[in-house]
Amino acid sequence: MSEILMNRMDWTNYEQRVRGDGAVVFLPCGATEQHGPHLPLGTDHILAHEVAAGVARRVGGIVAPALSYGYKSQVKCGGGQHFCGTTSLDAATLIGNVRDTIREFARHGARAVVLCNGHYENTWFLIEGIELAMRELGPSPSLRVMRLEYWDFMTGSTLGKVFPEGFPGFALEHAAVLETSMMLHYHPDLVRLDRIPGDGPAHFPEYETFPPYTHLVPPSGVLSSARAATREKGDWLVEEVTDRISAAVRKEFG
Ligand code: ZN
Ligand code: MN
Repeated sequence: MSEILMNRMDWTNYEQRVRGDGAVVFLPCGATEQHGPHLPLGTDHILAHEVAAGVARRVGGIVAPALSYGYKSQVKCGGGQHFCGTTSLDAATLIGNVRDTIREFARHGARAVVLCNGHYENTWFLIEGIELAMRELGPSPSLRVMRLEYWDFMTGSTLGKVFPEGFPGFALEHAAVLETSMMLHYHPDLVRLDRIPGDGPAHFPEYETFPPYTHLVPPSGVLSSARAATREKGDWLVEEVTDRISAAVRKEFG
């Protein structure tokens, strides 16, 4: 199988793939953020990378090195900034990273870029980075951008199988069943099943306060328990997400 990872290609090979073959360039976007005592700090960028790589293999794309630091972890969806190891960017820094990276892909001759996001807090800053890049590229840009959160491609029927007792919602799924099951699929060696905490689900008010109420966050950093995570659930989720994102990329970029 031919190489799909940009950082393992030499530049002439990359140029041939991007300019000659019109390969879609995938930019995984994640975070370096605590994910409980059972998952690695890199979970968000590792999953964004693996999903992008799975799709790139199907559609003949290239995966660029991930943006591995993300916007600040928020209490109600990522546990917050008070955990050791969580390493976050100001919005302006992240926006600049996205804008500059897309501008460089355009200079390379890329015609299609897909931002695959694995960290919820990044969402609007990725959009702003894309917006600024597109404004720089002018009214008829040579490049089109697609942006997505991989979990949006999970259907209700699959979530119903994964959560027979009811889906708690994506916000509380930080370091919980979805991410843990997907990590069991891609990198079982990085999951410590014996260290999954029984914490949660966390209960938050409808609003936020600053400084945040860190006492509302379980001390483990997990917002709902990952104890129901299994490799088989990871297989279902990864298969569906890979299938459906591949279909979307083919639809947009043929
Ligand atoms: Zn995560
Ligand atoms: Mn996150």
